[in-house]
Amino acid sequence: MQTNFTAELLATDRGQRANEILRSCVHCGFCNATCPTYQLTGDELDGPRGRIYLIRDLLEGVDDSTRSQMHLDRCLTCRACETTCPSGVAYGELAEIARNELGPSRRGIKGWMRLFIRWLVPDASRLRRMARLGKITRPFIPARLKQHIPQRIGKRVEANAQHTRKVLLLNGCAQQVATENTNKHLRDLLDQQGIGVEVASDEGCCGALDLHLGDESKALDRVRRNVDALSAHLDSCEAIISTASGCGVTLKDYGRLLAADSEYAEAAALVSAATLDVVEFVERAALDLRKRDDIDRVAWHAPCSLQHGMQITGSVERCLESAGYELVPIKDPHLCCGSAGSYSMLEPEMSDELGRRKVEALLQNDPEIIATANVGCQSHLGHRTGVPVVHWLELLV
Ligand code: SF4
Ligand code: SF4
Repeated sequence: MQTNFTAELLATDRGQRANEILRSCVHCGFCNATCPTYQLTGDELDGPRGRIYLIRDLLEGVDDSTRSQMHLDRCLTCRACETTCPSGVAYGELAEIARNELGPSRRGIKGWMRLFIRWLVPDASRLRRMARLGKITRPFIPARLKQHIPQRIGKRVEANAQHTRKVLLLNGCAQQVATENTNKHLRDLLDQQGIGVEVASDEGCCGALDLHLGDESKALDRVRRNVDALSAHLDSCEAIISTASGCGVTLKDYGRLLAADSEYAEAAALVSAATLDVVEFVERAALDLRKRDDIDRVAWHAPCSLQHGMQITGSVERCLESAGYELVPIKDPHLCCGSAGSYSMLEPEMSDELGRRKVEALLQNDPEIIATANVGCQSHLGHRTGVPVVHWLELLV
């Protein structure tokens, strides 16, 4: 794709990188075929190719930002387009540059919602207090928001460092409140196999939320804080483990995010290199995997952050099958379920429709349970079906 950036923009790291990414796109449109939002609206500007044109125009100053804003806000950042693209266009990184250009503010109710989400979600204590309040006042809360109140409000998982072998387990922000069983279950599984767990007391939100909502500066503050908190454990732990793929994919990116920060670049790269999604650790450590007696047929939903962000495919399936589960076939497994972090609150119509289609695909072959690997997908799918939705780790005993 041709670009016409000003010399001023090209003199910046972000301008140079955006130019490089834009020029790698040959506008073939293959990516549109796997874009969930393009499938919903059929509008070229709701597909990756159209968004790439919009981003170019935005950065060149020839687009009115309202139009870019609308179509970029509708993008899930699922990165299915990256998996499909034959030219290796780094769409996720380009979208991040464009979102930062647009900034986090929006007009009207959406603007207030964005402020509220960014205030609430990254702070686990605040989120826990709000979830408790939500449970008490549930009958008076609009149906739209009710679905975001967890059935059970979780706590942080504490360390269990009595073994010589140890890993550093991320507690995350939303995950510890909405799906605490995941990390508890992992800690018990590892304990049985002689591996202890450390936790970083001052660990916080990974920064993904602010990054996706266009506040890179705030996101990088969170990243630096985490680099300080996690680095202190690198000598005693063999890996940093994330059981929420949405956080793991961001931690693996810390090295890139802080590459230009002379004070943090090296430490951030070390944190990224030490980070593993839990399935990578399970396979690497060759853990003994046993299935539950009460369940046989499982529908597996691969989160986008796992399959497109980290490009991990087939690993969870291998683990579950080697434990003895039967995985039922799923239509369009590459498509996002519509959760996508704060997307389900900010773009409810598209999110609901994607959720409805995903549940239909998952239930088509009568599974007894649905397994996934990210807190967002688990919660989003969980209140759309009577079939239980769990983290895949919970299927191992
Ligand atoms: S598939 Fe890749 S090269 Fe083709 S239009 Fe999409 S992003 Fe551009
Ligand atoms: S990230 Fe997902 S929603 Fe956004 S353009 Fe790519 S495929 Fe479409």
